[in-house]
Amino acid sequence: MSATAQTNAATSEHDDEDGTDSVYVHLVAALAETPCDHALPHPRRWAVDHGVPEAIIVDLLERHGGFCDCEVVTNAWARLVGG
Ligand SMILES: [Zn+2]
Repeated sequence: MSATAQTNAATSEHDDEDGTDSVYVHLVAALAETPCDHALPHPRRWAVDHGVPEAIIVDLLERHGGFCDCEVVTNAWARLVGG
């Protein structure tokens, strides 16, 4: 998978046609069960589960202001998908 394809998969707002959930879908579900622990364990888990290098996902989120799970949901995601 190319870096662009990996980023697209990560930033899809909806389940992909192949059933792969996006980082956002994964995060919202995870945060509903456990509170944010001020790190990015869930995006890292998503990356591992989807065969995407963790560094790509973490770098992408941090560049958009998402330095922990809840910041990704409340802050980074709007910037990420909004351009
Ligand atoms: Zn947080």
